Amino acid sequence: MSRAWLIGAGPGDVELMTLKATRALAQADVVLVDDLVNPDVLQFARADAQIVYVGKRGGHPSTPQAGIVAQMLEHVQAGRSVARLKGGDPFVFGRGGEEQQALHAAGIRVDVINGITAGIAAPAAIGIPVTHRDYAQGVVFVTGHGAGSGELDWAALVATRMTLVIYMGMRRLNDIAAALLAAGMSADTPSAAIESATRPEQRYVLARLGEFADTVSRAGLGSPAIVVIGGVASLALARDAVNASTVGGLDAQ
Ligand code: SAH
Repeated sequence: MSRAWLIGAGPGDVELMTLKATRALAQADVVLVDDLVNPDVLQFARADAQIVYVGKRGGHPSTPQAGIVAQMLEHVQAGRSVARLKGGDPFVFGRGGEEQQALHAAGIRVDVINGITAGIAAPAAIGIPVTHRDYAQGVVFVTGHGAGSGELDWAALVATRMTLVIYMGMRRLNDIAAALLAAGMSADTPSAAIESATRPEQRYVLARLGEFADTVSRAGLGSPAIVVIGGVASLALARDAVNASTVGGLDAQ
C-alpha cells in the first residue's frame, strides 16, 4: 500500500535526524526534497528512489507550493510511497501544515515525523539553552519574514520577557532590532545569530542588542540563520564566534 510521510530532516547534521525518519525514508519510492535539507540525508533513501528537488536553493528552480502538493497526490494515487523531506521540523514554519491539509482534503493519510527544529538546535549548537530557568520562563518562536499575518507586535513580545527565537529574520534584522529597542527592550540584551547551524560551515555572532544588527552585517552573516534574543544568549560559547567583540562577559540583563 502506498503511503505519504511529512518528514523533518533536522537542522543539517545528518546524525540529528530521527530513527523514525530514516526508516520511513528507506521505504519511499519518491522523495520530495525541500530547501535547507542537507542532501547527505538522502543516504537513507533507497538507491532506486526517485529524488525530486523542490527547493529554490542550489540552482534548482523553486516549485510552487500547489505544484508540490499536486506531485505528492499524483504519486500516492499512482500507488507510490512518498516522503516529503523538510528542514528542521515539518510543522515549524515549514508549510507542512498546509501540505497536510491539502492531502487530507484529497482523502490521503499522511504520517508526520518530527525533526529537531533549527530554533532549538541552532542555539544549542553554541551552548544556548533557550529556556534556562534563571533567564526566561519560556521561549517564543516567531518568523521575522513579515509575510502572511503581517507585522508582529514586537512590544507585546518584549512584554513577555521570554527568549525570542526568530526564524527567517536576517533580511530584516535592522528593523527588528529597532522595533525591539523602541518597545523598551534593553540595548544590553544578549543576542546571537547562528548561520548554517550544526553544519561544518556553521558561523555565529554574539553581541548586545544595541550593536547586534551592525555586528551581524559586518561579519557578513546571512541566511539560513536563527536569531536568539534574551538573557540565555549570554550562555553562548564565545570561543568560536565570528564577532563577539562586545561580549566581554555578555551577562544577562
Ligand atoms: N521547518 C524549519 C524552519 C523552516 S523556515 C525548522 O523547523 O527548522 C527556514 C528558516 O529556518 C531559515 O530562514 C532559518 O531561520 C532557519 N533555519 C533552518 N535551518 C537552519 C540552520 N541549519 N541554521 C540556522 N537556521 C536555520
